[in-house]
Amino acid sequence: MAEFFNALFSIVMLAGIFTVLIILVVNKERKDKKMENIYSAISISNLSSVNEIAQTVGLSVSETRELIEEIIKETKRNKSSYKLLKNAYIDYRKNEVILNPRARGNVLNKAVDYLLDGFTLKKEVKNEWICSHCDTVNQTNFYNCRSCGAINTEK
Ligand SMILES: [Zn+2]
Repeated sequence: MAEFFNALFSIVMLAGIFTVLIILVVNKERKDKKMENIYSAISISNLSSVNEIAQTVGLSVSETRELIEEIIKETKRNKSSYKLLKNAYIDYRKNEVILNPRARGNVLNKAVDYLLDGFTLKKEVKNEWICSHCDTVNQTNFYNCRSCGAINTEK
């Protein structure tokens, strides 16, 4: 009989641990989703009032505020996440999210850098030279035509 109770006890314990783990994972996912929604409200819908953000994502003002603080902490732990809220803070008097004035610029600059990179690549293509003997397009760093060996006359 004791063995039966031991087995039963083990099963109940395992089931309990398993349930706790599932609850932890589900809660974490729910929280991440809420944080993403809040971040979208700030970054895409341009909301800064905590009340408006709370209304948009359908959470209480106090939970929204806690999650915004959580997002700001996350930007310090992981530099690539929630970039717009890097060095942001909540003005508790106005109940408003204050972004670092440079944050939106930085996010925009990244996009500009990306465009410029594309531009630079195109410029490099233009720098290629065409052999006057056989019309082969050669890369800038080749001094001789890769097809007929003629010297680059454009230089
Ligand atoms: Zn050639």
